[in-house]
Amino acid sequence: MNATANTIDAPSATTDVGALADQLTTGNRVALARGITLIESRKPEHKAEGRQLLELLSGFAGRSHRIGITGVPGAGKSTLIDRLGRILTAGGSRVAVLAVDPSSSRSGGAILGDKTRMADLAADPNAFIRPSPSSGTLGGVARTTRETILLCEAAGYDIVLVETVGIGQSEIAVAAMVDFFLVLMLAGGGDELQGIKKGVVELADMIAITKADGANEGPVRTAAADYTSALRILTPADASWKPPVIAVSALEGRGLQELWDNVRSHRAALEAKGEFEAKRRQQDVRWMHAMIEDRVREMFFTNEAAAAKIAGLEQAVRMKKMPPSVAADEAAGFIFGNT
Ligand code: GDP
Repeated sequence: MNATANTIDAPSATTDVGALADQLTTGNRVALARGITLIESRKPEHKAEGRQLLELLSGFAGRSHRIGITGVPGAGKSTLIDRLGRILTAGGSRVAVLAVDPSSSRSGGAILGDKTRMADLAADPNAFIRPSPSSGTLGGVARTTRETILLCEAAGYDIVLVETVGIGQSEIAVAAMVDFFLVLMLAGGGDELQGIKKGVVELADMIAITKADGANEGPVRTAAADYTSALRILTPADASWKPPVIAVSALEGRGLQELWDNVRSHRAALEAKGEFEAKRRQQDVRWMHAMIEDRVREMFFTNEAAAAKIAGLEQAVRMKKMPPSVAADEAAGFIFGNT
Protein backbone atom coordinates (compact mmCIF):
# COMPACT_ATOMS: atom_id res chain seq x y z
CA MET A 1 0.00 0.00 0.00
CA ASN A 2 1.41 3.34 -1.08
CA ALA A 3 1.95 5.92 1.65
CA THR A 4 -0.13 8.48 -0.26
CA ALA A 5 -3.31 6.44 0.06
CA ASN A 6 -5.74 8.66 1.91
CA THR A 7 -8.40 6.26 3.12
CA ILE A 8 -8.11 2.87 4.74
CA ASP A 9 -9.12 0.85 1.73
CA ALA A 10 -8.10 3.27 -1.02
CA PRO A 11 -5.97 1.44 -3.55
CA SER A 12 -2.56 2.97 -4.08
CA ALA A 13 -1.18 4.25 -7.35
CA THR A 14 0.53 0.89 -7.70
CA THR A 15 -2.58 -1.28 -7.38
CA ASP A 16 -2.14 -4.67 -9.01
CA VAL A 17 -5.44 -4.46 -10.85
CA GLY A 18 -5.20 -8.02 -12.16
CA ALA A 19 -4.80 -9.42 -8.64
CA LEU A 20 -7.62 -7.22 -7.37
CA ALA A 21 -9.91 -8.49 -10.14
CA ASP A 22 -9.03 -12.10 -9.28
CA GLN A 23 -9.74 -11.61 -5.57
CA LEU A 24 -12.94 -9.79 -6.37
CA THR A 25 -14.29 -12.62 -8.49
CA THR A 26 -13.82 -15.06 -5.62
CA GLY A 27 -16.40 -13.00 -3.73
CA ASN A 28 -13.84 -11.36 -1.45
CA ARG A 29 -15.70 -8.44 0.15
CA VAL A 30 -12.56 -6.48 0.98
CA ALA A 31 -11.51 -6.69 -2.67
CA LEU A 32 -15.00 -5.61 -3.74
CA ALA A 33 -14.88 -2.61 -1.40
CA ARG A 34 -11.41 -1.68 -2.70
CA GLY A 35 -12.59 -2.01 -6.28
CA ILE A 36 -15.53 0.31 -5.61
CA THR A 37 -13.25 2.84 -3.91
CA LEU A 38 -11.07 2.75 -7.03
CA ILE A 39 -14.09 3.40 -9.24
CA GLU A 40 -15.20 6.27 -7.01
CA SER A 41 -11.78 7.89 -6.85
CA ARG A 42 -11.29 11.09 -8.79
CA LYS A 43 -7.52 10.80 -8.85
CA PRO A 44 -6.25 10.64 -12.43
CA GLU A 45 -4.04 7.59 -11.74
CA HIS A 46 -7.06 5.74 -10.34
CA LYS A 47 -9.19 6.51 -13.38
CA ALA A 48 -7.01 4.39 -15.64
CA GLU A 49 -6.90 1.59 -13.08
CA GLY A 50 -10.67 1.75 -12.61
CA ARG A 51 -11.18 1.42 -16.33
CA GLN A 52 -8.76 -1.50 -16.46
CA LEU A 53 -10.64 -3.22 -13.63
CA LEU A 54 -13.96 -2.78 -15.43
CA GLU A 55 -12.48 -4.20 -18.61
CA LEU A 56 -11.09 -7.22 -16.78
CA LEU A 57 -14.49 -7.86 -15.20
CA SER A 58 -16.66 -7.07 -18.22
CA GLY A 59 -17.31 -10.77 -18.83
CA PHE A 60 -19.31 -10.91 -15.59
CA ALA A 61 -21.57 -7.98 -16.43
CA GLY A 62 -25.28 -8.60 -16.39
CA ARG A 63 -25.32 -11.58 -14.06
CA SER A 64 -27.61 -10.09 -11.46
CA HIS A 65 -31.25 -9.15 -11.30
CA ARG A 66 -31.14 -5.37 -10.87
CA ILE A 67 -33.96 -3.76 -8.93
CA GLY A 68 -34.42 -0.03 -8.29
CA ILE A 69 -36.36 1.04 -5.20
CA THR A 70 -37.54 4.59 -4.61
CA GLY A 71 -39.73 6.41 -2.12
CA VAL A 72 -39.76 9.65 -0.17
CA PRO A 73 -37.84 9.74 3.13
CA GLY A 74 -39.96 7.87 5.66
CA ALA A 75 -41.74 5.76 3.02
CA GLY A 76 -40.23 2.65 4.55
CA LYS A 77 -37.40 1.87 2.12
CA SER A 78 -34.79 0.72 4.60
CA THR A 79 -37.23 -1.36 6.63
CA LEU A 80 -38.49 -3.04 3.47
CA ILE A 81 -35.02 -3.64 2.04
CA ASP A 82 -33.86 -5.06 5.36
CA ARG A 83 -36.76 -7.55 5.48
CA LEU A 84 -36.82 -8.37 1.78
CA GLY A 85 -33.05 -8.76 1.71
CA ARG A 86 -33.20 -11.28 4.53
CA ILE A 87 -35.89 -13.28 2.73
CA LEU A 88 -33.74 -13.34 -0.39
CA THR A 89 -30.53 -14.38 1.37
CA ALA A 90 -32.48 -17.05 3.26
CA GLY A 91 -33.53 -18.34 -0.19
CA GLY A 92 -29.87 -18.72 -1.17
CA SER A 93 -29.28 -15.42 -2.97
CA ARG A 94 -26.42 -13.03 -2.42
CA VAL A 95 -27.79 -9.50 -2.20
CA ALA A 96 -26.05 -6.17 -2.75
CA VAL A 97 -27.70 -2.90 -1.74
CA LEU A 98 -26.42 0.29 -3.34
CA ALA A 99 -27.64 3.83 -2.86
CA VAL A 100 -27.98 6.76 -5.22
CA ASP A 101 -28.24 9.84 -3.08
CA PRO A 102 -26.73 12.94 -4.61
CA SER A 103 -28.50 15.03 -1.95
CA SER A 104 -26.09 13.67 0.67
CA SER A 105 -23.36 15.92 -0.72
CA ARG A 106 -25.44 18.90 0.34
CA SER A 107 -26.70 17.59 3.65
CA GLY A 108 -23.24 16.35 4.58
CA GLY A 109 -24.33 12.84 5.46
CA ALA A 110 -25.76 9.97 3.46
CA ILE A 111 -29.45 9.49 4.13
CA LEU A 112 -29.44 6.26 2.15
CA GLY A 113 -27.39 3.12 2.27
CA ASP A 114 -26.53 3.70 5.88
CA LYS A 115 -25.79 0.34 7.43
CA THR A 116 -27.45 1.26 10.69
CA ARG A 117 -30.72 1.62 8.80
CA MET A 118 -30.56 -2.02 7.73
CA ALA A 119 -28.99 -3.56 10.77
CA ASP A 120 -30.08 -7.18 10.18
CA LEU A 121 -29.10 -7.24 6.55
CA ALA A 122 -25.79 -5.47 7.25
CA ALA A 123 -24.85 -8.35 9.58
CA ASP A 124 -25.73 -10.98 6.97
CA PRO A 125 -22.65 -12.55 5.36
CA ASN A 126 -24.58 -12.93 2.10
CA ALA A 127 -25.41 -9.23 1.87
CA PHE A 128 -23.28 -6.27 0.90
CA ILE A 129 -24.43 -2.71 1.62
CA ARG A 130 -22.72 0.27 0.09
CA PRO A 131 -23.75 3.89 0.66
CA SER A 132 -23.43 6.32 -2.23
CA PRO A 133 -20.30 8.45 -2.49
CA SER A 134 -20.47 11.32 -0.01
CA SER A 135 -19.99 13.95 -2.69
CA GLY A 136 -20.50 14.45 -6.36
CA THR A 137 -23.03 15.32 -8.99
CA LEU A 138 -25.96 13.10 -9.86
CA GLY A 139 -24.13 12.18 -13.06
CA GLY A 140 -21.02 11.19 -11.09
CA VAL A 141 -22.98 9.21 -8.53
CA ALA A 142 -24.92 7.49 -11.33
CA ARG A 143 -21.69 6.51 -13.06
CA THR A 144 -20.15 5.02 -9.94
CA THR A 145 -23.39 3.22 -9.09
CA ARG A 146 -23.58 1.66 -12.56
CA GLU A 147 -19.99 0.54 -12.36
CA THR A 148 -20.49 -0.71 -8.82
CA ILE A 149 -23.36 -2.89 -10.06
CA LEU A 150 -20.89 -4.53 -12.46
CA LEU A 151 -18.35 -5.09 -9.68
CA CYS A 152 -21.04 -6.64 -7.47
CA GLU A 153 -22.03 -8.94 -10.32
CA ALA A 154 -18.41 -9.99 -10.74
CA ALA A 155 -18.25 -10.68 -6.99
CA GLY A 156 -21.17 -13.08 -7.31
CA TYR A 157 -24.09 -10.98 -6.05
CA ASP A 158 -27.09 -12.22 -7.98
CA ILE A 159 -29.56 -9.60 -6.77
CA VAL A 160 -28.64 -5.91 -6.72
CA LEU A 161 -31.04 -3.48 -5.05
CA VAL A 162 -30.43 0.16 -5.95
CA GLU A 163 -32.10 2.51 -3.51
CA THR A 164 -32.86 6.16 -4.14
CA VAL A 165 -34.86 8.96 -2.54
CA GLY A 166 -38.10 9.87 -4.24
CA ILE A 167 -37.11 13.44 -4.78
CA GLY A 168 -35.36 15.12 -7.68
CA GLN A 169 -33.91 13.50 -10.75
CA SER A 170 -32.28 10.51 -9.14
CA GLU A 171 -35.22 8.19 -9.86
CA ILE A 172 -34.79 8.71 -13.59
CA ALA A 173 -31.10 7.90 -13.29
CA VAL A 174 -31.83 4.73 -11.32
CA ALA A 175 -34.73 3.59 -13.52
CA ALA A 176 -32.29 3.77 -16.45
CA MET A 177 -29.86 1.32 -14.83
CA VAL A 178 -32.16 -1.40 -13.49
CA ASP A 179 -34.37 -4.20 -14.82
CA PHE A 180 -37.27 -3.43 -12.50
CA PHE A 181 -38.24 -0.17 -10.85
CA LEU A 182 -40.25 -0.34 -7.63
CA VAL A 183 -41.97 2.77 -6.30
CA LEU A 184 -42.92 2.82 -2.63
CA MET A 185 -45.80 5.10 -1.69
CA LEU A 186 -47.34 6.16 1.60
CA ALA A 187 -51.09 6.22 1.97
CA GLY A 188 -53.03 9.05 3.53
CA GLY A 189 -53.20 12.81 3.54
CA GLY A 190 -55.31 12.91 0.39
CA ASP A 191 -52.15 13.30 -1.67
CA GLU A 192 -52.08 9.76 -3.00
CA LEU A 193 -51.64 10.95 -6.53
CA GLN A 194 -48.76 13.32 -5.90
CA GLY A 195 -46.39 10.86 -7.52
CA ILE A 196 -48.37 10.98 -10.75
CA LYS A 197 -47.62 14.67 -11.06
CA LYS A 198 -43.97 14.14 -10.43
CA GLY A 199 -43.80 11.52 -13.12
CA VAL A 200 -42.24 8.91 -10.83
CA VAL A 201 -45.19 6.61 -11.30
CA GLU A 202 -44.61 6.58 -15.04
CA LEU A 203 -41.29 4.90 -14.35
CA ALA A 204 -42.82 2.30 -12.03
CA ASP A 205 -42.90 -1.42 -12.86
CA MET A 206 -44.83 -1.81 -9.62
CA ILE A 207 -46.20 0.43 -6.90
CA ALA A 208 -46.15 -0.85 -3.34
CA ILE A 209 -48.16 1.06 -0.77
CA THR A 210 -46.20 0.66 2.46
CA LYS A 211 -47.18 0.28 6.12
CA ALA A 212 -50.33 -1.74 5.38
CA ASP A 213 -50.90 -2.63 9.01
CA GLY A 214 -52.99 -1.59 12.00
CA ALA A 215 -55.15 1.50 11.56
CA ASN A 216 -53.38 2.25 8.29
CA GLU A 217 -54.90 -0.70 6.42
CA GLY A 218 -58.00 1.23 5.29
CA PRO A 219 -56.09 4.23 3.88
CA VAL A 220 -53.69 1.82 2.14
CA ARG A 221 -56.63 0.08 0.43
CA THR A 222 -57.97 3.44 -0.77
CA ALA A 223 -54.56 4.52 -2.02
CA ALA A 224 -54.10 1.20 -3.84
CA ALA A 225 -57.43 1.66 -5.63
CA ASP A 226 -56.50 5.23 -6.60
CA TYR A 227 -53.14 4.21 -8.00
CA THR A 228 -54.64 1.25 -9.84
CA SER A 229 -57.03 3.51 -11.73
CA ALA A 230 -54.32 6.13 -12.30
CA LEU A 231 -51.99 3.51 -13.80
CA ARG A 232 -54.69 2.43 -16.22
CA ILE A 233 -54.34 5.66 -18.15
CA LEU A 234 -50.55 5.53 -18.36
CA THR A 235 -48.56 3.69 -21.01
CA PRO A 236 -46.51 0.96 -19.32
CA ALA A 237 -42.71 1.23 -19.57
CA ASP A 238 -42.47 -2.34 -20.89
CA ALA A 239 -44.87 -3.58 -23.55
CA SER A 240 -45.35 -7.01 -21.93
CA TRP A 241 -45.95 -5.84 -18.40
CA LYS A 242 -48.82 -4.07 -16.70
CA PRO A 243 -47.50 -2.53 -13.46
CA PRO A 244 -49.42 -3.90 -10.47
CA VAL A 245 -50.24 -2.06 -7.25
CA ILE A 246 -49.74 -4.01 -4.04
CA ALA A 247 -49.92 -3.36 -0.30
CA VAL A 248 -47.01 -4.30 1.97
CA SER A 249 -46.17 -4.22 5.61
CA ALA A 250 -42.45 -4.66 6.11
CA LEU A 251 -43.00 -4.45 9.84
CA GLU A 252 -45.32 -7.47 9.84
CA GLY A 253 -43.64 -9.11 6.85
CA ARG A 254 -46.85 -9.07 4.80
CA GLY A 255 -46.87 -8.68 1.01
CA LEU A 256 -43.13 -9.17 0.66
CA GLN A 257 -43.42 -12.57 -1.01
CA GLU A 258 -46.04 -11.20 -3.42
CA LEU A 259 -43.71 -8.29 -4.10
CA TRP A 260 -40.87 -10.59 -5.04
CA ASP A 261 -43.14 -12.89 -7.05
CA ASN A 262 -44.09 -9.87 -9.15
CA VAL A 263 -40.45 -8.96 -9.72
CA ARG A 264 -39.80 -12.49 -10.98
CA SER A 265 -42.94 -12.58 -13.12
CA HIS A 266 -41.91 -9.31 -14.74
CA ARG A 267 -38.57 -10.82 -15.69
CA ALA A 268 -40.19 -13.97 -17.04
CA ALA A 269 -42.72 -11.97 -19.08
CA LEU A 270 -40.01 -9.82 -20.64
CA GLU A 271 -37.64 -12.72 -21.24
CA ALA A 272 -40.36 -14.64 -23.03
CA LYS A 273 -40.46 -11.92 -25.65
CA GLY A 274 -36.75 -11.13 -25.75
CA GLU A 275 -37.46 -7.73 -24.20
CA PHE A 276 -35.36 -8.24 -21.09
CA GLU A 277 -32.02 -8.32 -22.86
CA ALA A 278 -33.17 -5.70 -25.38
CA LYS A 279 -33.97 -3.32 -22.53
CA ARG A 280 -30.50 -3.77 -21.04
CA ARG A 281 -28.83 -3.14 -24.38
CA GLN A 282 -30.89 -0.04 -24.93
CA GLN A 283 -29.92 1.18 -21.44
CA ASP A 284 -26.24 0.62 -22.28
CA VAL A 285 -26.50 2.56 -25.52
CA ARG A 286 -28.29 5.44 -23.81
CA TRP A 287 -25.67 5.41 -21.11
CA MET A 288 -22.92 5.62 -23.70
CA HIS A 289 -24.61 8.70 -25.16
CA ALA A 290 -24.89 10.28 -21.73
CA MET A 291 -21.20 9.65 -21.11
CA ILE A 292 -20.23 11.13 -24.47
CA GLU A 293 -22.11 14.28 -23.49
CA ASP A 294 -20.31 14.27 -20.14
CA ARG A 295 -16.90 13.93 -21.73
CA VAL A 296 -17.56 16.72 -24.20
CA ARG A 297 -18.77 18.95 -21.39
CA GLU A 298 -15.65 18.06 -19.37
CA MET A 299 -13.46 19.06 -22.31
CA PHE A 300 -15.08 22.48 -22.32
CA PHE A 301 -14.15 22.99 -18.71
CA THR A 302 -10.76 21.33 -18.49
CA ASN A 303 -9.18 22.29 -21.81
CA GLU A 304 -7.60 25.72 -21.36
CA ALA A 305 -7.71 26.65 -25.03
CA ALA A 306 -11.37 25.66 -25.22
CA ALA A 307 -12.17 27.60 -22.06
CA ALA A 308 -10.48 30.71 -23.51
CA LYS A 309 -12.32 30.26 -26.78
CA ILE A 310 -15.63 29.93 -24.99
CA ALA A 311 -14.94 32.96 -22.82
CA GLY A 312 -14.38 34.94 -26.01
CA LEU A 313 -17.58 33.63 -27.57
CA GLU A 314 -19.51 34.42 -24.39
CA GLN A 315 -18.31 37.98 -24.61
CA ALA A 316 -19.32 38.20 -28.27
CA VAL A 317 -22.79 36.90 -27.46
CA ARG A 318 -23.14 39.28 -24.53
CA MET A 319 -22.14 42.24 -26.73
CA LYS A 320 -24.63 41.05 -29.38
CA LYS A 321 -21.78 40.69 -31.84
CA MET A 322 -22.69 37.08 -32.54
CA PRO A 323 -25.96 35.14 -32.34
CA PRO A 324 -25.82 32.32 -29.73
CA SER A 325 -26.37 29.60 -32.32
CA VAL A 326 -23.46 30.80 -34.45
CA ALA A 327 -21.25 30.97 -31.33
CA ALA A 328 -22.26 27.42 -30.41
CA ASP A 329 -21.38 26.19 -33.90
CA GLU A 330 -18.03 27.91 -33.68
CA ALA A 331 -17.33 26.39 -30.25
CA ALA A 332 -18.20 22.92 -31.53
CA GLY A 333 -15.99 23.43 -34.57
CA PHE A 334 -13.14 24.54 -32.32
CA ILE A 335 -13.46 21.53 -30.02
CA PHE A 336 -13.64 18.94 -32.73
CA GLY A 337 -11.01 20.63 -34.89
CA ASN A 338 -8.48 20.65 -32.05
CA THR A 339 -8.79 17.30 -30.35
P1 GDP B 1 -37.05 5.29 4.69
O1 GDP B 1 -36.69 6.68 5.10
O2 GDP B 1 -37.84 5.29 3.43
O3 GDP B 1 -35.87 4.37 4.63
O4 GDP B 1 -38.05 4.74 5.82
P2 GDP B 1 -37.80 3.77 7.07
O5 GDP B 1 -37.68 2.37 6.63
O6 GDP B 1 -36.67 4.33 7.85
O7 GDP B 1 -39.16 3.91 7.85
C1 GDP B 1 -39.62 5.14 8.35
C2 GDP B 1 -40.47 4.87 9.58
O8 GDP B 1 -41.61 4.09 9.22
C3 GDP B 1 -39.75 4.11 10.66
O9 GDP B 1 -40.13 4.63 11.91
C4 GDP B 1 -40.23 2.69 10.49
O10 GDP B 1 -40.24 1.96 11.70
C5 GDP B 1 -41.66 2.90 9.99
N1 GDP B 1 -42.08 1.77 9.14
C6 GDP B 1 -41.38 1.21 8.13
N2 GDP B 1 -42.07 0.19 7.61
C7 GDP B 1 -43.22 0.09 8.30
C8 GDP B 1 -44.35 -0.80 8.22
O11 GDP B 1 -44.44 -1.73 7.40
N3 GDP B 1 -45.39 -0.56 9.09
C9 GDP B 1 -45.33 0.45 9.99
N4 GDP B 1 -46.39 0.60 10.80
N5 GDP B 1 -44.28 1.28 10.11
C10 GDP B 1 -43.23 1.11 9.27
